[in-house]
Amino acid sequence: MPTLVMKFGGTSVANLDRIKRAAKRVGVEVSKGYNVIVVVSAMSGKTNELVGWVEETSPLFDAREYDAIVSSGENVTAGLMALTLQEMNINARSWQGWQVPLITSSAHAAARIEDIPTKNINAKFDQGVRVAVVAGFQGISSEGRITTLGRGGSDTTAVAFAAAFGAERCDIYTDVDGIYTTDPRVENKARKLDKIAFEEMLELASLGAKVLQTRSVELAMRFKVKLRVLSSFEEQSDSAGTLVCDEEEIMESNVVAGVAFQRDEAKMTLISIADRPGIAAAIFMPLSDAGVNVDMIVQNISEEGRTDMTFSCPVDQVGRAQQAMAKAKDSGEINFHDLIADTDVAKVSVVGIGMRSHTGVAAKMFHVLSAEGVNIKVITTSEIKISVLVDRKYMELAVQALHDAFDLDKA
Ligand code: ADP
Ligand code: ASP
Ligand code: MG
Repeated sequence: MPTLVMKFGGTSVANLDRIKRAAKRVGVEVSKGYNVIVVVSAMSGKTNELVGWVEETSPLFDAREYDAIVSSGENVTAGLMALTLQEMNINARSWQGWQVPLITSSAHAAARIEDIPTKNINAKFDQGVRVAVVAGFQGISSEGRITTLGRGGSDTTAVAFAAAFGAERCDIYTDVDGIYTTDPRVENKARKLDKIAFEEMLELASLGAKVLQTRSVELAMRFKVKLRVLSSFEEQSDSAGTLVCDEEEIMESNVVAGVAFQRDEAKMTLISIADRPGIAAAIFMPLSDAGVNVDMIVQNISEEGRTDMTFSCPVDQVGRAQQAMAKAKDSGEINFHDLIADTDVAKVSVVGIGMRSHTGVAAKMFHVLSAEGVNIKVITTSEIKISVLVDRKYMELAVQALHDAFDLDKA
């Protein structure tokens, strides 16, 4: 029988009614003749609550225990979904990550999937089970400890299952009816896209568009998974949503495909460090060892052998970064005058594969922001994106102004 993967995010399984609604959609696909792998998130808000408990108990927590705790939300929804389906006379069974087993690396809180053996679930399909409900976001390391795949990781669980089982499609059901030119909660003129290229979605996701976890897009691209994003709230189950596909499948597209943002960034500046070979390594190795996800990096012009180094990281990692830098200073590996943390910044980015062949996008972006009186604090670019750090209070304004200026509301 052909296999389909259906993933339901937190709002789509937020309570028993929503779970019933999602189960009905699964029932429709079962009646079409599919064996379905359903991947569920925790009920919306649950993972945040669990993370809050961890941080309150232990600010610089042991990530192994973090994973033991925050993975639990998905166990509940997986069991409830299986029970709901059984109540509908559909032969369903739930699997937690360790039961599959979904094998991951040992990078707790950001584990990478290494293997998904299909044997156990296929054996059940052969015995007549029609729906395998899988707890998203979680796996097990080779040391036998529970791991999680990073926030939003159920998307990645879903795509990885689609690849492992050769599913016909991977449908991501969420609280919006597709992928938009920017987050429709920030810009009400955001336009739904019928299709988006993998490369663009990859950039948008990694720059903050949380509608899909970055790793899920990466996996879909690598394993040629047919990936769709659609609403679990709309009544008709055939509403098309947005297809994430190869660039070649899209006839025309705008130079800029979308605007993404990351609200909770911090800008860290090391004042007066020695400008010598090896200094960058001496700074960024300890940060990496401390689990700090450094994003933008800028080194200023050096004067008399001393320079300033600026980097950005998520605001909730500032404590770790400060601790790592203080330790490196104490041990004599680096020497700096001061470490300044600006915790009120956000990152805004424009993304589009059209930038490969069109010039002037950066100039236009900077002009639009200056016309709005928004000061740019840090800039980085790549082939298909331009990102800036701005004061957080201007984030929405910047997103809306850029969306307008690049005519993203028009096809
Ligand atoms: P789920 O719980 O279903 O995984 P998420 O909250 O993780 O849902 O992702 C869906 C949300 O992503 C939407 O509610 C929307 O606010 C946000 N979002 C951000 N950028 C975009 C975008 N470009 N298109 C659609 N949604 C976006
Ligand atoms: N529940 C997890 C989170 O909130 C995983 C997910 O929903 O994708 O990050
Ligand atoms: Mg999500």
